[in-house]
Amino acid sequence: MDTLRCQICNRRPAKFVRFKAHQGLIIVRWETEIAGVFCKFHAVEAYKRARSVSFTGMWFGATSLFLGVLRTAWDTISLLDLPNAPVDEPWTIHPAYCPNCSSLIGGYAGVSRCSSCQETVAFCKCARCQTFHAVHVSENAEWRLRCASCGHSTPGSEAIEYSPTILVAYASAELVAAIEHADAFGTQVIDRVLELLSTGLLHSVRSRSVAVEVYPARARSCVASTAVSASWGSRA
Ligand SMILES: [Zn+2]
Ligand SMILES: [Zn+2]
Ligand SMILES: [Zn+2]
Repeated sequence: MDTLRCQICNRRPAKFVRFKAHQGLIIVRWETEIAGVFCKFHAVEAYKRARSVSFTGMWFGATSLFLGVLRTAWDTISLLDLPNAPVDEPWTIHPAYCPNCSSLIGGYAGVSRCSSCQETVAFCKCARCQTFHAVHVSENAEWRLRCASCGHSTPGSEAIEYSPTILVAYASAELVAAIEHADAFGTQVIDRVLELLSTGLLHSVRSRSVAVEVYPARARSCVASTAVSASWGSRA
């Protein structure tokens, strides 16, 4: 089941959900169905859309009012069967409502600014359950993510794993290490590049520790300097 991905944002886990919206006039009634494979975020969005359609039609007649209420109640019950919260993955854009101004914003993992209210927002994940969240953070102070899914508290420094700058830094460090150790710049390095591309850097953290262990001095300093400057340098 976990292999299903949201048809809108491509995140997982996702599942098939269906919401029926009832719309009624005095003599005409019709139903609209909103269905698809959605992540939790987009399942709730679909539900809100169905509900607003229901509420719009409900005021036109007594029968419609009854059916509208019934449908809304039924949809609320089926809400209990939503997919689990989406997990964070490399190169994934997460949609979220700004925790400060409630605007719909989106971004990769990392600290950024709400395009609407300019507040500093972090797209980050819980270290225990791996689910993804958008939180309001203070720019100059340490912050923690309190997970809305499991309650675990994650320090900000551990809550951002797949920021593009960090992924690029890891990949660069690995390539530098590979080039350093290749007798001749050739197929070995090219194979490594292809491998990184095909895995989508899914094992970036493991790969980094391998690079640090296997290629001590050079790789270690490279990982440290590029990762730190990449994560903090882009915020100015
Ligand atoms: Zn989605
Ligand atoms: Zn905002
Ligand atoms: Zn959690």
